[in-house]
Amino acid sequence: MDPEDRKCCCRSAETAQRDARDLERRIVTVTIDTEHCVICNACESICPEVFSCREDGAVLTATAAEHFTAKRDMIEKAVVHCCVEVISVRYADGTTTDPSARS
Ligand code: SF4
Repeated sequence: MDPEDRKCCCRSAETAQRDARDLERRIVTVTIDTEHCVICNACESICPEVFSCREDGAVLTATAAEHFTAKRDMIEKAVVHCCVEVISVRYADGTTTDPSARS
């Protein structure tokens, strides 16, 4: 076998594994407990495509779901930086960032 062919196959396998992992970690829902939001604006500063702060608390933007894949890292960063931990994410594999939902 040509070494280049093997290299190409290995890359394809790695790419397929990475794609599968990405599919499992695809964000399907983002939830904000707006009632307990302290309106610090951190989430909107980190990812304005997904989060919007209003007078009564943070909400998802009208087009938030369109950015769940491309902005996954920023959404996860907002989850971590929310000082009152009211943002949670659910992934396609069923896992969630919400500690109360884990069993
Ligand atoms: S980071 Fe958390 S507390 Fe701050 S505005 Fe966003 S949801 Fe509210």
